[in-house]
Amino acid sequence: MTQTATPATDPGRANSTPTYQLFIAGEWVDSTTGETFESRNPANTNDVVGRFQQGGPADVARAIRAAEMAGPMWRRTPAPKRGEILYRFGQLMADNKERLSRAMTREMGKVLAEARGDVQEGIDIAFLMAGEGRRMFGDTVPSELPDKWAMSIRQPIGVAGIITPWNFPIAIPCWKMMPALVTGNTVIFKPSSDTPHCATLLVELMAEAGFPAGTVNLVTGAGSDVGDAIVESPDVPVISVTGNTATGRRIAERAARRLKRVSLELGGKNGIVVLADADLDLATDGIIWSAFGTTGQRCTACSRVIVERPALEPLLERLERRARALRLGDGLEPTTDVGPLINDAGRSKVEEYIGIGRREGELVMGGGRPETPGLQNGFFFEPTIFAGVKPMDRIGQEEIFGPVLSVIPVDDYQGAVTALNQTRYGLSSSIYTSDANAAFRAMRDFETGIVYVNAGTIGAETHLPFGGVKETGNGHREAGHAALDTYTEWKAIYVDFSGRLQRAQIDNQPD
Ligand code: NAD
Repeated sequence: MTQTATPATDPGRANSTPTYQLFIAGEWVDSTTGETFESRNPANTNDVVGRFQQGGPADVARAIRAAEMAGPMWRRTPAPKRGEILYRFGQLMADNKERLSRAMTREMGKVLAEARGDVQEGIDIAFLMAGEGRRMFGDTVPSELPDKWAMSIRQPIGVAGIITPWNFPIAIPCWKMMPALVTGNTVIFKPSSDTPHCATLLVELMAEAGFPAGTVNLVTGAGSDVGDAIVESPDVPVISVTGNTATGRRIAERAARRLKRVSLELGGKNGIVVLADADLDLATDGIIWSAFGTTGQRCTACSRVIVERPALEPLLERLERRARALRLGDGLEPTTDVGPLINDAGRSKVEEYIGIGRREGELVMGGGRPETPGLQNGFFFEPTIFAGVKPMDRIGQEEIFGPVLSVIPVDDYQGAVTALNQTRYGLSSSIYTSDANAAFRAMRDFETGIVYVNAGTIGAETHLPFGGVKETGNGHREAGHAALDTYTEWKAIYVDFSGRLQRAQIDNQPD
């Protein structure tokens, strides 16, 4: 697996768009469909990043065969040896961090500092999971019978289908593939069609790190073709998908017919509670970063601020002042604070919610496309704040996935808890307060998988479990050692060295 997907420059066509391939059984190959699609820079749609294979069901079948063929060898490879390859991959990502980060900003728009953070998450999980190659603890427990040993081990499940979104195009594939691979599964990786270049660069480094042929297979293409074929295949027993809740529900329903294990990481409507005793400057920092970082397109982005009335006016004044100072632009420019939205559909969705928000709340600022010269070829949108939003308003309930913040006034802590929990999602939440008792109550009361105290809703670290409750997921977690549960089967093993029949629950009872 030493080839590279990056096509050689054709000297006769210096500006020609490069075409990239699928990666199956350790080879870079064309799709059987013969079709390709483009990936363009959302900050400047005249900039074509590359052409990518429009994979189809036959490519998925090939990739699954390759992954199945590699399975027995990979699962028999000692886990510490598998871990060493993950370690090399983490090191290669670190060596290529700047190149990967710049490619990410160009392909999906987040500002360079955030792209570097995204790559760093990939590095962190590679190193964390490399270490799992030497841990991967099971239990060894006393048997209830004499001369008998009782223990449990983790075993790989088989071929893992990895279906990922565009908003963390390096971190999320790594969050899934690293635990899948270190535990001995082989993978079919289907990235978002908005970020196939990031996926290709990642898989190039995986090949260079030494993952054996067939252990990692990349099939680009549409969710309805490639994703669907992965979900429907009887030979892919475990699927991990990050995407919106509608996508996850569709996948889970179909996978359930085949009794597959499905890990879902889905939408969010994350809230920050600001109590009257909070440090409002600190809260403003956290809200601005959480609401407008990655142009509001993080699953953990803050889209609701729930504020006790005495703090409402001073907080709003601070938020507006800070948001008005944010500079929109190409994320590769060091002066840019907020990049573009991912695509035209993403921007249309935000615009639809602006219309809804105008009817439900009061538009404080933003709400349109910027008129700044130079931004007309990108999917830019102004940071937007609505005030006077009620907890059950649509802009307070639905995932907008853009730079749109709703401010919801409440009377007291209990009102804040009710408003915060009154949504179908439950990923991340936060409270700003100087009252330690209120902070501890929030840790208990907030119905989310992640709670921050005196920090924004973003900033998860890879060694703790990541995921949400309610319609944000289905109970699985990524990252931390919890991630191993998605990709392993428990096997309980009993060794009887008494040399005679010993009956559990019977022979250790009084006659
Ligand atoms: P999306 O649901 O449109 O797509 C996600 C992936 O699913 C893509 O690879 C897509 O091609 C694939 N897909 C779509 N339809 C499919 C089908 N029928 N069968 C199989 N695969 C299919 O999501 P997106 O726009 O790429 O990402 C944004 C969403 O992801 C937001 O809702 C965001 O909250 C969520 N997200 C959640 C987390 C989390 O950890 N909870 C993290 C990041 C993003």
